[in-house]
Amino acid sequence: MERLVDPQATIAVIRKNEFAFQKRFGQNFLVDSHVLDKIIRAAGVTKDDFVLEIGPGIGTMTQALSEAARQVAAVEIDDHLIPILKETLSGCANVEIIHGDILQLDVKALAESRNGGKPVKVVANLPYYITTPIIMGLFESGVPLDNITIMVQKEVADRMKAGPGTKDYGALSLAVQYYAEPYLAANVPPNCFIPRPNVGSAVIRLTAHREKPVQVEDEALLFRLIRASFNQRRKTLANGLNNSPELSFSKEEIQETIAELGLPASVRGEALTLEQFAALSNYLSRRRPTD
Ligand code: SAM
Repeated sequence: MERLVDPQATIAVIRKNEFAFQKRFGQNFLVDSHVLDKIIRAAGVTKDDFVLEIGPGIGTMTQALSEAARQVAAVEIDDHLIPILKETLSGCANVEIIHGDILQLDVKALAESRNGGKPVKVVANLPYYITTPIIMGLFESGVPLDNITIMVQKEVADRMKAGPGTKDYGALSLAVQYYAEPYLAANVPPNCFIPRPNVGSAVIRLTAHREKPVQVEDEALLFRLIRASFNQRRKTLANGLNNSPELSFSKEEIQETIAELGLPASVRGEALTLEQFAALSNYLSRRRPTD
């Protein structure tokens, strides 16, 4: 089987199949073998693993995953790539090509039937236009996860791993860190792809927490509070929560809770740690259990 991960081999497959890149599917194919090896290594894929690949493209990373893993399921939305994948992966008996939209797929059922409910590894060079819904969808689906190792826009990787008080810290940082431990495995320049994206990229590994780092009584409230705090970044936490259409606590309830947490009245949401957001959420849900 010819390895696709270099510019000539990729261009040859594209020409032979008269494949036209579709911008709307975020198609940038990886053509750098060092980066590919780094991704597989960062994910820690072994022959025990079932791996879900999102968006295999022409099958470049899928070939490497096939060699490293026990079994691979690769989910691709683009009709035109399915016959190409059947050909490029014809020698890979442990790869299942699934034609569909990852956002519509029942990943939990797939993991259950293919991996008996054991933790799954997700490896992908993601389509950047839907990075957040894919990741949050995986975390919220309840699918047992080992790690998610993905190529994303560099700026998104920075936001995922940011801590309080930094410019990149926000709702995405808190949501990701509630579910997983981020680790930046590599920065990847545009010339590692065909066509070149007009942004820098990075490989980030999100290792799922076995136990959540904070205990909250009402997860939905925690996330409403986080969203409200960062929707109006320049405002104080009290004003952000008070102005949010998603919350119905009175100004007094909010001010009292902030004081009970030992925080100054003028504190901004961007200064709070995940632990402090969890405490805020628990204080408020005890005040108003049905909110
Ligand atoms: N894995 C390949 C590589 O590294 O060369 C291709 C990566 S490319 C950045 C993203 C891939 O995701 C494309 O093949 C694209 O067609 C596919 N894709 C886009 N949206 C998708 C969706 N909603 N569900 C499944 N695949 C999707």
